[in-house]
Amino acid sequence: MQHARTVAEYAYAPYSRFKVGAALLLSNGHIVTGCNVENSSYRLTNCAEQGAISAAVAKFGPKVRIRAVGVANVDVQTACMPCGACRQTILEFATDDCWVFFPGQSGCPRECAFSDLLPESFRLAH
Ligand SMILES: [Zn+2]
Repeated sequence: MQHARTVAEYAYAPYSRFKVGAALLLSNGHIVTGCNVENSSYRLTNCAEQGAISAAVAKFGPKVRIRAVGVANVDVQTACMPCGACRQTILEFATDDCWVFFPGQSGCPRECAFSDLLPESFRLAH
């Protein structure tokens, strides 16, 4: 969570002012971070979790696996759990026992198994 809080300071969030950081604990023991990067065309905004996942794949390759995700925001003490798109992106790389740590209601620390955040998830059979 400390890594997530630290990288959130680097977020580019001039429109929402909602700075978010994400830190991934990988199965290889490394921690990789990312922050949100907004765009004036809002739908082009990248979430912190997706930035961290892109960085992890770029650094360790496509077999990288995520054991835990920490998400934090710095400017407001409010809930900040991964959005639906990020949950689907995390699923692609999550281990079966992946955990997620994030500020819940009123910023209170929460943690839960990733499988509880995305039940009945979509997976393309291959
Ligand atoms: Zn997201």
